[in-house]
Amino acid sequence: MKPQNEVLSGIGTTIFTVMSALANQHGAVNLGQGFPDYDGPADVIHAAAAALLDGRNQYPPMSGVPELRQAVAHHNKRFYGIEADPNAEVVVTSGATEAITACLMAVLNPGDECVLIEPLYDTYLPVVRLLGAIPKLVRLSPPEWALPRAELAAAFGPKTKALLLNSPMNPTGKVFTEEELRFIAGLLEQHDCYAICDEVYEHLTFDGAKHIPLMTLPGMRERCMRVGSAGKTFSLTGWKIGYITADRSIAPNVTKAHQNLTFTTAPNLQRGVAVGLMKDDAYFAGLSTHLQAKRDKLGAGLAQLGFDVLPTKGSYFITTDFRPLGFNGDDVAFCRTLTEEAKVTAIPVTAFYASEDAPSHYARFAFCKGDAVIDEALTRMESWLSKRRG
Ligand code: PMP
Ligand code: GLN
Repeated sequence: MKPQNEVLSGIGTTIFTVMSALANQHGAVNLGQGFPDYDGPADVIHAAAAALLDGRNQYPPMSGVPELRQAVAHHNKRFYGIEADPNAEVVVTSGATEAITACLMAVLNPGDECVLIEPLYDTYLPVVRLLGAIPKLVRLSPPEWALPRAELAAAFGPKTKALLLNSPMNPTGKVFTEEELRFIAGLLEQHDCYAICDEVYEHLTFDGAKHIPLMTLPGMRERCMRVGSAGKTFSLTGWKIGYITADRSIAPNVTKAHQNLTFTTAPNLQRGVAVGLMKDDAYFAGLSTHLQAKRDKLGAGLAQLGFDVLPTKGSYFITTDFRPLGFNGDDVAFCRTLTEEAKVTAIPVTAFYASEDAPSHYARFAFCKGDAVIDEALTRMESWLSKRRG
């Protein structure tokens, strides 16, 4: 048989699925894959359930039901002052994963260069490669995850078409500062590039850290495709509803990419999310307060156990350095052993790097879990560690 697609043949099953399967196999508390173990807001769920029963179950409009496009536009204005035309500048997709792919498809041609920042979410690189574009990787270094400005500037050149930016960032919990965003904006203008902005954790920020969409900076309105996810904003990761805000000059190509990926997205879930995006400010503020308490609980517990806990300003995740525990092995071995022996699952951070030379002593823990589940995970790790210390 002739060889199949070389990009897909060259990658494995996503680490999140692999680790969740391992967690199930060993009866482990799953702090690996980032999904809440609690339900989203009842009014949003009821709205989606009720929407199934009023006869709008055929193909919805390609760019999204009007209620949701209007709600996305309203949300942009309410939180960030972004004016977007719901009829020409909003596209609804089946999850942020599809949204990011659609945005990359909208602008990249084979041979174009696309700047990516490591550590990076696991779909970015394969999609850039599938499009025949050339990834240019720039690495943030722990524990600060500061932006290496000279390296970033050097990654841009005459062939650069786009940058993909994730803030708040998975797995680091970094929230890019206004200064860093200004620097990035300068490069985008200088090199006449687009930006795909993965902002799925926009409402999950802590300690007063403020998420600033790159799109709100001077000159960026026309260059940025801003991606949100109902999965994260409403703790409903299984719904897979994403939304893109992009200038009217880019949105048509984004819509055509969506047309060729999925064409439309379940109408009742879109209508539920429309109700969600119109919820009062207290809901959005409560989301981060609630999660911040969980971050603090898990972070304090992990530090108590001896992990070096890196700071997290946003997202569902804490990154830890496990070397102080005296574990001799890399992150993959650590996460496997932790699952098999302690019955707690985490994600090896090397999964977020493209090459072999990645730092291999970090494990990522998700804290979007019930308090009893976090406590149980900590208790299990404590008894595992005391046995090892024997
Ligand atoms: N981007 C990042 C950084 C993520 O962590 C995730 C995880 N879900 C996604 C995109 C995908 O979001 P969705 O589930 O809406 O496809
Ligand atoms: N975004 C989630 C995480 O980082 C996982 C999503 C997935 O399983 N594909 O854990």
